[in-house]
Amino acid sequence: MTALTFTPVIGIEIHIQLKTKSKVFCACSADYANDPPNSHICPVCTGLPGSMPALNKAVVRQGMLAGLVLNCAVQPTTFFFRKSYYYPDLPKGFQTTQSDLPIAASGWLEIKDDEGRPKRIRINRLHLEEDVGKLHHSAPDGRLEGADASYVDYNRSGLPLAEIVSEPDVSSAREAVEYVTALRRRVRYSGASDVDLEKGMMRFDANVSMKCSDGRWGRKVEVKNMNSFRALERAIEYEIARQKKLMEEGGEVLQETRHWNDAKGVTTASRVKEFYRKFIVEPDLPPLVVTPEWIEEARACLPEMPGEKALRYVKEMGLSEVDATVLTDSLDVARYFEACVAAGANPPRAGNWVRTEVLRAVNERRVNVDEIDVRPQALAELLRRVDDGRLSTTVAKSVFEVMLEGFSLDDAAKTIGVVEGGVGADALESLARTILEANPDVVADIRSGKDTAKKVKFLRGLVMRETKGQARPDEVTAAIDAALAPVLK
Ligand SMILES: [Zn+2]
Repeated sequence: MTALTFTPVIGIEIHIQLKTKSKVFCACSADYANDPPNSHICPVCTGLPGSMPALNKAVVRQGMLAGLVLNCAVQPTTFFFRKSYYYPDLPKGFQTTQSDLPIAASGWLEIKDDEGRPKRIRINRLHLEEDVGKLHHSAPDGRLEGADASYVDYNRSGLPLAEIVSEPDVSSAREAVEYVTALRRRVRYSGASDVDLEKGMMRFDANVSMKCSDGRWGRKVEVKNMNSFRALERAIEYEIARQKKLMEEGGEVLQETRHWNDAKGVTTASRVKEFYRKFIVEPDLPPLVVTPEWIEEARACLPEMPGEKALRYVKEMGLSEVDATVLTDSLDVARYFEACVAAGANPPRAGNWVRTEVLRAVNERRVNVDEIDVRPQALAELLRRVDDGRLSTTVAKSVFEVMLEGFSLDDAAKTIGVVEGGVGADALESLARTILEANPDVVADIRSGKDTAKKVKFLRGLVMRETKGQARPDEVTAAIDAALAPVLK
């Protein structure tokens, strides 16, 4: 008997919070992060009787942008529906959503499969909807502590969301993570959302089922409640193993909704059966019509996407693939690098510096690249001085550290004692002769032609160390050559 094999069949649903000033159907501010509960609410987003929603145009535009970068076709006419269910975080008794008549449909993203081959994950749709409120089951400020009470905060109620539904083309937890990573990067480039995972701006659900080599198909299980890449990966791995074991033992996978418990690392069956009557057209909102002109205007605003940008950095600018991939992860960093090159820096050198020195500074300070004190133009000038031999890489790094504290390039150089023009040719040559005398075995090797380049480099290093890195590298080379010339005769 041959062993059974199982193929996971996975679809991913992603909710992202679209970046707008106000909520989707009212004028309440979407920026409530540091404000008290229920301070950004009105009759519309708390569902008071008689209140009338009005669609925020910015939400439509952001939804279009996100759809376009996911290779979707923007639909000219769409509708909103009432998805009816009752829950305390949903005071209207229904969620307003485009559901399966979405603003954008039929897209795709390319990833690499587990064997490293290119693979397309098809995207069924991107639809617009509103977020719900937040329940708190304990009082954060101590009110009614110990009492059997729950609290609801409607600040989040009515925030604009885009739900992105993939086809079941994902075959492993790794592929799922690659898909959401690529998707997040492109959406962030589009400006449609900040997709900040820590702030809950991107949340995941996964539909997982298993196909067995004996022809059996397991039923589809919807796993909810993942809000990090790691949670998505672990939840899918757990669910694949659980379903596989069930089927191996001849059991049946039930069609159900399960919740991911991140602390325990398990999925558990959800006790609440959700039921909806989805297709009641929202009578308070007219059909949503987007003109071809509007779609083209939005498309024209999109920047070059990260994959294409990275390819261009490698092909046209000569960057390494590692540098190109890291630099294009965020548009801000890519723009910083490009500004540096526009200001005259050598692209591979600038790319390497931004990836290592600049990003290290950004991470240490926990700021955006636009907030560090070394502007791209100043970095370009620093790197030019490395290129023309006026500064060694080591000294340039020290100068850069001082520049990060807000000093100009020249002031930073003075601060660490770099003297413009280096140490002086006579002093260098005399130093080089002293070092040659102190290392007769090295000189003997050079004379016999053994590892000449390496030995000369070693001597250069000694001179640089003696000058505390303040000598110009090209002048050190010249001084050593001059000192060696009579010895090698
Ligand atoms: Zn409101």
